[in-house]
Amino acid sequence: LAYLFGFRPHQIELSSLAMAISCIVLSRGVFRYGLVDLAPVARSLVFNQIDDAVLVLDRASHVSDCNQVFRQLFPEIAALHDESPLKRIRVTSEPLAGLVRHAQGDPPHGEYIDVQIGETVLRCRFMRLSNSRGKLIGRALVFTDISDHVAMRNDLRRLASTDLLTGVGNRRFFLALADREIGRRLRRPTPISLAIIDLDFFKGFNDDFGHQAGDEVLRMVATTCQHCLRQTDIFGRYGGEEFAVCMPETDAASAMQVAERLRRSIANLVFEHGTASRAITISVGVANSRAEDEISLDDLLGRADSALYRAKANGRNCVVLASPETREVTA
Ligand code: GH3
Ligand code: MG
Ligand code: MG
Repeated sequence: LAYLFGFRPHQIELSSLAMAISCIVLSRGVFRYGLVDLAPVARSLVFNQIDDAVLVLDRASHVSDCNQVFRQLFPEIAALHDESPLKRIRVTSEPLAGLVRHAQGDPPHGEYIDVQIGETVLRCRFMRLSNSRGKLIGRALVFTDISDHVAMRNDLRRLASTDLLTGVGNRRFFLALADREIGRRLRRPTPISLAIIDLDFFKGFNDDFGHQAGDEVLRMVATTCQHCLRQTDIFGRYGGEEFAVCMPETDAASAMQVAERLRRSIANLVFEHGTASRAITISVGVANSRAEDEISLDDLLGRADSALYRAKANGRNCVVLASPETREVTA
């Protein structure tokens, strides 16, 4: 203004003076806040050397920046960005495009979605980027590779629900799934059946041929039962030499057919040990609850157990159905 209005006190050129003062103020700011050295160093350290992949989007969700890990993970996007870093690139390839669309919906800061890309599972966290006045200036998508974590979690789940000897579901697995089926009946009444299978004179295999032979018999029985059952049946090792089957949406007559089929298939097995051989047989107790009846898993198991007791008393290698209303009384 001084220049425009020709204001020159004592013939001093004010614009050059103002320029000199501005330079001092600006250089003080630049050096004080380390804009020339700290910011690039911090960027290369934090942004480019962290293990997470980072994609920075502007407010219109165009690619604004990405770090080294992201470049390795999504080379095609990085290549586009490298070609013309100042051009506004829109991500169109899935699954990244889906995540960018989700980011446009303004998810809460820190929300995450897990995505699988080939063998890799990535956790994508959505970050809001705001300026000092709190105004949204863009978003960052931070990708963490959680493949190992997920694989370990799956292994743990599998181990926690599998019987190590036979490879079928263990008692915990069986009870959890059977209980879920019982719960489902509360919303939609359907019949349900449950069978407990017990090997006959199993102790004899251990005593006569050794514990390993006993283990082999258990494996043979588990595999044979699995082959005889339907996809919807829940099968597991219930105890030492006992297995259990939960049959959703199955009435008593069908459950008896399944149990009889199991019994016959097992009776056809012959365990051979050296020159000796021995038939394997099972006794089965079956319990059923009609669609209109309510029953707890404990009661169903109790009834099946009582029926199994009768099957043993009847001479073994047979199937017994528990009477619907009363619980079998065991002496
Ligand atoms: P029953 O016809 O009355 O059922 O007679 P059983 O011999 O089958 O029943 P009992 O309860 O007398 O014996 C069960 C045996 O199963 C005893 C136990 O040592 C054996 N057992 C339990 N778990 C295992 C296992 O994992 N491996 C082996 N080899 N044996 C086992
Ligand atoms: Mg037993
Ligand atoms: Mg037994």
